[in-house]
Amino acid sequence: MEQMRSFGYICPKCGKAQVHQRSRFALSAAAARMECECEKASLQVETDGVRFRLSVPCGLCGETHQAELDAQQLLEGRGVGLGCPKTRQICCYIGEEQQVMSSVEEMTIRVEKDKAEDGEAFTDNVIMYEVLSELKEIAQRGGIGCSCGSKEYAMQVGRAYVDLICGKCGGRLRINAATDEDLDRLCCRMTLEIHGR
Ligand SMILES: [Zn+2]
Ligand SMILES: [Zn+2]
Ligand SMILES: [Zn+2]
Repeated sequence: MEQMRSFGYICPKCGKAQVHQRSRFALSAAAARMECECEKASLQVETDGVRFRLSVPCGLCGETHQAELDAQQLLEGRGVGLGCPKTRQICCYIGEEQQVMSSVEEMTIRVEKDKAEDGEAFTDNVIMYEVLSELKEIAQRGGIGCSCGSKEYAMQVGRAYVDLICGKCGGRLRINAATDEDLDRLCCRMTLEIHGR
């Protein structure tokens, strides 16, 4: 688990929160592309072995921002937030999974507040935040994985659900996040297994 780095951002096209994971090894070896399932935006990471160049789709202002980090910032430590120069808010967070998930939660709340006039982001905001924090706890225990054996996954947040998508085989597990029953169902789970393809 500690070999992995997580990347969080909000897709500017469809508004879904994205959490993607890559191993440190893969990040150092080759360029990475972390695409939203809407296929209209992706976070891109390139490296020359010393520095990392990132192209970050920004869910706050809708533009794409460029950033540069050195290997230590990207690969070590709790994490680093990248700011949106327009809104002066964090629009991307890279680091340990827990930090990234917390940061994505904050970003989602911020985006939602900005959109408050065009209606609610989630079917039930309270349930959604509870579900996200429950998922965070399960992830913290290392409880999320795929039946194909992979521990790599991406998370996408919709209006009434959270999808966990296997990073290896693309298998998908949908967690409903709209009602009290959805939350109860999740709270009694120790682990979550994505059904691999
Ligand atoms: Zn999208
Ligand atoms: Zn921005
Ligand atoms: Zn899988």
